[in-house]
Amino acid sequence: MRQVETIIVGGGPAGSSCARELVRCGRPCLVLEKQPPPRPKLCAGWITPKVLADLEIQPEEYPYGLVQLDRLRLVVGRSRRWRFRISAHQYSIRRAEFDGWLLERSGAEVVQHTVREIRYAGGRYIVDGQFSCTYLVGAGGTSCPVRRNLFPPHPGKLILTREAELPGEPLGNECILWFPFAGQSGYAWYVPKRGGVHIGFGGLADQIPTEGLASLWEEFTRLLDGEDSVGDMSPPTPKGHPYFLNPLNTPIKQNGAYLVGDAAGLATWDLAEGIGPAIQSGILAARDILGLDIYQRERVGRYSLGLLGRFFRWVWARLP
Ligand SMILES: Cc1cc2nc3c(=O)[nH]c(=O)nc-3n(C[C@H](O)[C@H](O)[C@H](O)COP(=O)(O)OP(=O)(O)OC[C@H]3O[C@@H](n4cnc5c(N)ncnc54)[C@H](O)[C@@H]3O)c2cc1C
Repeated sequence: MRQVETIIVGGGPAGSSCARELVRCGRPCLVLEKQPPPRPKLCAGWITPKVLADLEIQPEEYPYGLVQLDRLRLVVGRSRRWRFRISAHQYSIRRAEFDGWLLERSGAEVVQHTVREIRYAGGRYIVDGQFSCTYLVGAGGTSCPVRRNLFPPHPGKLILTREAELPGEPLGNECILWFPFAGQSGYAWYVPKRGGVHIGFGGLADQIPTEGLASLWEEFTRLLDGEDSVGDMSPPTPKGHPYFLNPLNTPIKQNGAYLVGDAAGLATWDLAEGIGPAIQSGILAARDILGLDIYQRERVGRYSLGLLGRFFRWVWARLP
């Protein structure tokens, strides 16, 4: 059996950030990742400046496609829709590139392995009878096996999404957001990327209107048609990926086991963005293992847009 101090299950942004922090402090770790590279990931790929700051890079140092989104068009309202344009300072990336780069940059050893069964015996975790460790980090996203095997079932709110990525150069670098859409706290997006655009919507499962996701997608494509600068689009059949938002203080750490990123339901409460919280929680869990910090839910940011995010959430829940 292979023995190592820390095993990280999942090589997404949460797992690779945790791995990087451990490796650069000289502590051994192994990442178990089920998919070979490149790993496509359903995601709009919108990241905030804080994500780049947490990764300690300047935008120009990022080696792959990055678009600076310097204007946001907000289309706000249900029956009547008001349009606002605000200047912004946000970015978009392509996830397969971003995730691959993060994992490689971590310097950690990665073994392709799908984790299924985990046992705790004699103060060590045994993973699939093949690997053994003192610290185990669950960074496996929505259906993380560390959560399934060791933590209570996810009590969070389920987010449902539909999205598609269209190749081709976007007409500009203005991002469009429709609030609300797919329920009172859901929204839809059009995010320009390098070499394409990402379109989609997401909302809390218990708020998705009864007509369902397919008819919402049709409504969304009509909204896209109504916007200038979007250009002619023939959106392909959309895909979806559910994930959790955990507004409750359920355990995310016990006996040397940690849940980080989507495995812990750490996406933000205003925009349900999870890349930033995944990176923050991965770094913080590593620092807890290193004895340099304490990993707690409250230490990971809950809003993408800070006070503005809380204000937007309050406003769009009350729109006619
Ligand atoms: C449609 C959509 C759009 C989104 N848009 C944005 C956005 O614009 N901005 C934003 O910040 N967030 C966005 N999110 C959320 C964001 O994608 C996630 O919060 C983020 O990917 C979480 O990172 P993670 O590392 O926790 O998990 P993941 O990125 O899901 O990584 C988990 C990794 O674990 C691996 N894994 C899973 N199970 C196992 C196993 N059994 N054994 C080994 N490995 C395993 C997977 O292969 C994967 O590589 C979006 C989500 C969706 C669905």
